[in-house]
Amino acid sequence: MRSPRVLPFVALAAAMLATAVHAEVGKPQEVAPGVWFHEGDVARRGHCNNGWILFRDQVLVVDANFPSGAQDVLPKLRALTDKPVRFVFDTHHHGDHAYGNQVWAEAGATVVAHEGVLAEMKRLETGAFGGAPGRWEGTAKDRPDVAKSKFRPPSLLFPRQLVFDDGTQRVELHHFGVAHTRGDGFAWLPNERVLFTGDACVNGPYNFMGDGDTAEWVKTLEAARALKPKFVCPGHGLMGGPEILDNQITFIRTLRTEVKKLTDAGKTPAEAKAAVDTIKAAIQKDGRIANYVGGMFASQVEKVFVEFGGKPFESALRLTPGAREALRARAAGKPDRFAAFVAGR
Ligand SMILES: [Zn+2]
Repeated sequence: MRSPRVLPFVALAAAMLATAVHAEVGKPQEVAPGVWFHEGDVARRGHCNNGWILFRDQVLVVDANFPSGAQDVLPKLRALTDKPVRFVFDTHHHGDHAYGNQVWAEAGATVVAHEGVLAEMKRLETGAFGGAPGRWEGTAKDRPDVAKSKFRPPSLLFPRQLVFDDGTQRVELHHFGVAHTRGDGFAWLPNERVLFTGDACVNGPYNFMGDGDTAEWVKTLEAARALKPKFVCPGHGLMGGPEILDNQITFIRTLRTEVKKLTDAGKTPAEAKAAVDTIKAAIQKDGRIANYVGGMFASQVEKVFVEFGGKPFESALRLTPGAREALRARAAGKPDRFAAFVAGR
């Protein structure tokens, strides 16, 4: 155990490390020769982070981003290399990581993902698979870039692992289990010890927990940490070192410990909701993970409460366009398919 007196210095050291490896939002940063990281503008445009890796005669891009994110990144990548982008790797099915697939496909890329990504798309992107409007259609109502583009699922799928190795560069795509979603993939560069995590690991208040499982999530992150990366490129927020993985694990673990106290004590959803600020304060006391607390915190508490057997809160803290759609429908007295999706979060 660290004494409380030491903690601020640990946090400061971590912050300094993060600063040392931080470029700026929207500016490509070369993590290692031929390995690039690009921090997306999440605050204003909802964009995820991207990576790209140069091979002898091709480029592999990590995450498709939203269509406007892909359009933002593509010319920056083009300014650095004229090698063709042959592959784009969706780390998971969420729109801010996968809805730009069509943009990359038009630039000549094949979309690659863990097979759980396609499975989740078939479950949630019903509009694209011949059913009722799904998440894409919900998002398109709020995002002109999505409205103007076309949903495109991955077409090259891997069950556990897929390796790209041309003798000059090696990238291993891994699925270590359920985490942020049921199809999270990591891109691991063993030679440079660089790990791209997608949203299985974020650096800041960006944990959307609705599609994952927090108990499995911790195990998956531990498998990723066992790789011993030197550089960790998260799905959102600043890149840094392995401390980002540690912090993400600590955040989820602390959240689970605090919420379990509520279910163990038999608290009702209303009582659990009333305890959100107390749990928030407990987490904010730990300088390593205080920055993980943000606008989604109440829904994170609710998700874990439900995982431990509690009932969902009557909460208005819903962030995705699909969720807003559900609230609109619910308010109009006609709950639609999104109501079930919201209730499950
Ligand atoms: Zn995500």
